[in-house]
This record gives sequence, C-alpha cells and structure tokens, in this order.
Amino acid sequence: MEDGTTLLFDLPGFRVVECYEDEDGQRQVVVMGLAAEHACPGCGVLVAKPYDYREMVVKDLPIGQRPLRLRWRKRRYACPEGACPRRTFTETSTEVPPRHRLTGRLRAKLESAASGSARAISDVAAEYGVSWWSVQHALVVTAAGLLPDPTPVRVLGLDETRARSVRWLFGATGWRRSEPWMTSFVDLDLGRPGGLLGLTPGRSGAAVEGWLSQQSAEWRAGIEVVALDPSAPFASAIRRALPRATIVVDHWHLVRLANQMVTEVRQRVAREQLGRRGRKADPAWAHRRLLLRAGDQLSAAGLRRLAAVLTTDDPCDEIGAAWGVKELLRGLLAARTRHDAAGRLYQFYDACLAADMAETTRLAETIATWWPHIEPFLRTGITNARTEGYNRVDQAGQAGRLRLSQSGQLRAPYRPAHRRQEGSVTPVSTASPPSTAKSRQVWRGRRSRELRRATASRIAGFPSCATDPGWRRSHLWSREPPVPAAGGAPGCQ
Ligand SMILES: [Zn+2]
Repeated sequence: MEDGTTLLFDLPGFRVVECYEDEDGQRQVVVMGLAAEHACPGCGVLVAKPYDYREMVVKDLPIGQRPLRLRWRKRRYACPEGACPRRTFTETSTEVPPRHRLTGRLRAKLESAASGSARAISDVAAEYGVSWWSVQHALVVTAAGLLPDPTPVRVLGLDETRARSVRWLFGATGWRRSEPWMTSFVDLDLGRPGGLLGLTPGRSGAAVEGWLSQQSAEWRAGIEVVALDPSAPFASAIRRALPRATIVVDHWHLVRLANQMVTEVRQRVAREQLGRRGRKADPAWAHRRLLLRAGDQLSAAGLRRLAAVLTTDDPCDEIGAAWGVKELLRGLLAARTRHDAAGRLYQFYDACLAADMAETTRLAETIATWWPHIEPFLRTGITNARTEGYNRVDQAGQAGRLRLSQSGQLRAPYRPAHRRQEGSVTPVSTASPPSTAKSRQVWRGRRSRELRRATASRIAGFPSCATDPGWRRSHLWSREPPVPAAGGAPGCQ
C-alpha cells in the first residue's frame, strides 16, 4: 500500500497495509505497527522476526459516510533468550494499550464530546457506535488525570445514604438484589470549607475499608478524628483501618434513637390500654409529634397540651417516663463542662433504671456501648452534620435540582476543638434479653446492677472540672434543656 493512504488514515504509530471492500460491501482497513523490533517484556531482548500474526478488530473514529472496520495485524514473537520465563509475547502500542479495544484518538473524542457539552453519555455512545461504558471509562480516566493530590484531612465524616430504590437484576446466577446504599466520606475539618471526598457503593465495613485502602498511607495516617452514626460495622472498620483515629458518634443520631424509643413506648401503651393501634381521636396519637419536640423549646401552651396528653393517655406514667429519659439524654448531649456531663450521665442512667421499661433499658445500653465515642463528642463538639448535608446534596443532585459544584455552601460554623486523653471505661455486656418473662426479670436486675457499676466507674474517670477549666464547648441549643443542677455525682465534687 502506498504511503499516501497511511498519511490520509493518520493513525499514530501505524501504517496502512491493506484496504479493501468485503463481499458485504463493508470497507476494511488493515494496519500494522511502524516499529520493526520489539523488546521482550520478560527480559528486554530485542526481537525483529515475528513467528506469527493475529488480527484484532479495533474501534476508531468514523471516516467517510459508510462504516469502516479497522483491523490491527499484530506481530507475535518468540523470545530467543533461553532463561527468560516469557516464551512468547505480542507487540504493544500506546495508541491501543493492552486490554483496550478503542484507539486513543477515539477515546479522546468520546471524552471531549461528553464533557464539552450537556449531551447524555448514551447519546455520545450511539453516535460513535460504542457502548455506554466505553464513554464513561474515557471520562473517568481523563478526570482522574486532572484531579489534584488529595489534601490532608484531620477530621473525616462518614455516613450511609440511600442513593435510589432497590432494584433486582437478572444475571447468569439468577435474580440479584442491587445495592441501593452508598457511603459518603466528607472532610469535617472545622477550619476549612470542607468537601465531599468520595462515595463508595454499599454501607458495610468492607466498603469503608475498601475505600480507605485506596488512599495513601500518609493520608490515612493524618486522620485524627472520625465522626459517624452509631453503626457497629462502620466503627469496627475504622478501628481496623485507622487504629489511631478517635471515633466520635454524632449527637443527632442519639437524639433520633431517643425519639424512636418514645414512639415505641407510646405505641406499646396504646396497644396495652386500648387493645389496638392509636387513632386520630386518641390525644397521644394526635400529639405524637409534640412528644418528640425539644422539651426546652415548647411554649407554655405546648407544655399544657403535653401535660393534658400524659394525664389522659398515660395512666401508668410510662410515656411520661420515656419523655423524661429522652429529655435527659438531650441535656447530657448539651453538657458544656465535664462536671455537667458527669452529673447528667448519672441522672440519665438513674432515670432509665427508675423507668424500668425494656425500651429505656435498651437506650441506656446503647448509650453505655457507645459512651467511649460519645464522650469525645462532648469534648470536641465535632458533629457529622456536614456529612448529612452532603447526603442531601447528593440526593438533590440526582433529582436534577442541585449540583455538587459549590462545596462551600454547606459550611459548618467554626467550633474550637479541645482534645484530651480518653478515660478508661468498664465494659458492659451487650447480650440480648432472654425469652421467658421470669428470666427476663432476673436479667433486668442483673443489668441494672451492671449499669450502676459502669456508671460509677465512668463518672470516676472524669477529672474534676476545677483542674480542667478549658473544657468548654459552644451551645448546641439556644436554650438550656430543663435539667436540674448536677448533684450526687461521685468523683466530681
Ligand atoms: Zn524474554
């Protein structure tokens, strides 16, 4: 073939060796690499004489009106070096790297067509006769090359977010559930505007570990604090992947657990008192949201309504006790000094024991289990609110309402962080309650004693606030929750 054809075809590193029309009327172009010698990838010995040729169909830019099929006649070589482990090898090209089926100039064209305008990926794929994944891959490779090195992050936030509804996909092994959850990683450093660092499919510990393992060791070593919701898989993944980081549980999720507890008690009381679910006519059901609102922010009329609800629908004071426990937990999470926190923790456990209901005991156990990670929250005031904010941006962005470009718009207020050594904590067993009523009673008594012991040891672990005047944090609520002054907290007087 003449050089003019190679010049016209203009594929870098290749010359056209054949050009014809097959019996179906399709145009075929056969090319070969320009380099005559190739080095063995095993030993580096140059080999000039191929022992075989293989043809490989490659996708390229469209030329002319009719379809054109490009074939690369690849040389295969036998390595002459006797000690070399590679017996044979095939020539390679930077234009069509190994495991690629598209020429570099087509990949560049796909990327610019998809990123340079608001066209859908499927639209670009249809125009160039390639798959959706080919366009997506070209975009991802280019974007990865443009990204700067990740900036060091000291405070990392992670949270799960539901990206879409559950889908079922039919594959070779039958129906398979498609994971609708994503885990998001956010920079929570309070001195910076922050930003979404990454998203990974799934909400398991393995997903978290997998994403962290893709980051550099220096980046991982720079993380000091990780804020998350009370999720055991997340916490154990962080303990394995970032053993030196302090885990902080967000207060918002704990208040949500307390609200859930109040709702469960209200529903159980309705079933026990009325033998049915709550209805619009029942005050407790009609005012179910009032029960969940912040007690310190209720108006005088709201407090009167609350009192009326508890008088009519709560003969055994169970809903009232649950509400009180919820408010005590909110007060504990708003504690501003070590002394406050110690007293309020004591009051909270005491109220849970006095309430003596399965729901409040379970909440006390959750707080006991997570206390090693709640106490750092009280010290540092670091919350996961920014991660939650980014989850909402993700979801809104998927709905086409909001784009993720303005990372500064979810700026969290600056709060000074004071870090101190964590105190030693007596572990509390987390076994589930037995099934029979009698053994449950015994179990509850034992749990009560365990919790009291754990409380006493935790409170003893707090140093006196007189020796630690710097232990202050900003307001989480505008008004103080209705908690009496701390008293009777051993080790803090
Ligand atoms: Zn070799």
